[in-house]
Amino acid sequence: MNKCPNCLANNSFTKVQKDGSVIEICEYCNTINEVTTATKAIITPENKLKSTDPVDTVVHVVYFFFFVFIFCIIILLLDQ
Ligand SMILES: [Zn+2]
Repeated sequence: MNKCPNCLANNSFTKVQKDGSVIEICEYCNTINEVTTATKAIITPENKLKSTDPVDTVVHVVYFFFFVFIFCIIILLLDQ
């Protein structure tokens, strides 16, 4: 089905697994034709880190206690 763009040979590509992705190599001229990239590469690490970022959680806890502290001061001032 695939025609090599370099040597124009028909069905000369052989599927090879390399670095987690499937590539096709022409058996005549060794032209590399990438077929599919593994799902590993598609998943962006940025999205994974957002939900489990420990620094972000610490910042939220610090903000929470800061607001609780301010709230307590306001309550004490109103009580006088
Ligand atoms: Zn070729």
